[in-house]
Amino acid sequence: MDVMEPTIAKTDAEWRAQLTPEQYDILRRKGTERPFTGRYVNEKSDGTYVCAACGTELFSSDTKFESHSGWPSFTEPVNREHVILESDHSHGMVRTEVMCRSCGGHLGHVFEDGPSDEGGMRYCINSGALQLERS
Ligand code: FE
Repeated sequence: MDVMEPTIAKTDAEWRAQLTPEQYDILRRKGTERPFTGRYVNEKSDGTYVCAACGTELFSSDTKFESHSGWPSFTEPVNREHVILESDHSHGMVRTEVMCRSCGGHLGHVFEDGPSDEGGMRYCINSGALQLERS
């Protein structure tokens, strides 16, 4: 779907040194935190969620909603240009993967079962890929 390459290129060793083991597993190994374990699942504070790896602004608390999925869920990114969406056929499913456009870090997946009055999308994002900058 997207052809743009990430603009921040670090080696695997550099990412491993910079990120916590959990962040590294999610962002660089496309891992998924267990549902209802992430620190932002029930977060209600106002602010902007930035990429835990590179600081790019990704999601606003204004678009966060309770999906009961166990992961932080948003109806849309702060800016569509800040993410890469790509078809993901892993684990026997067809899903759309969401990545940070700046660093290529894996964030989560986007599904079409979000609130219909807000565009119908559900960006299902790992807490471990995010950092909340409170406003
Ligand atoms: Fe990033």
